Amino acid sequence: MDGDFRSTFVREPGSLKHHPALVLNADYRPLSYYPLSLWPWQEAVKAAFLDRVDIVAEYDQVVRSPSHEIRIPSVVVLKDYVKPQKRVAFTRFNLFLRDEFSCQYCGSRGDLTFDHVVPRARGGVTSWENVVAACARCNLHKGSKSLRQAGMALRKTPKRPGAEELRNTGRKFPPNYLHESWIDFLYWDAELEA
Ligand SMILES: [Zn+2]
Repeated sequence: MDGDFRSTFVREPGSLKHHPALVLNADYRPLSYYPLSLWPWQEAVKAAFLDRVDIVAEYDQVVRSPSHEIRIPSVVVLKDYVKPQKRVAFTRFNLFLRDEFSCQYCGSRGDLTFDHVVPRARGGVTSWENVVAACARCNLHKGSKSLRQAGMALRKTPKRPGAEELRNTGRKFPPNYLHESWIDFLYWDAELEA
């Protein structure tokens, strides 16, 4: 578990019978919302033995080795604070997440592609400000026309998202399975803001 905490999360907790543990930063906020920061139980148990995390909540199930017995952690908190990344990488995933996985022309959520607002053929660049999520239908309709020529409008002005902004967007996409012990740590700050 040295190195990149962010790349090793369980992606489909509901499909696993592996008792994933929610991983909280030292400030008790999840390390990541999307994907939700979940470790396979083996990682959580190892981290607990190495004294890198405190166990906040547990499953009923127990794992045994010849010398030890431990209840499987369901929530762990890192002892050392991991600084969140400030800069948001310009990746396909982050761009889709910024646009909440919806077409920026019609709002549909199926069959998503990328659209250059100012078409590449007209000198449009590949940037946060000029690329949006678009459904295949809108993309086809727009073709290499400008917005005005195509008679289309963007739902919002595309721009580079801040790390905190993207993190909050990620909170709108919880995985299809949430263990009850995780809920307090996923939504308490959301309720305070409401
Ligand atoms: Zn569309």
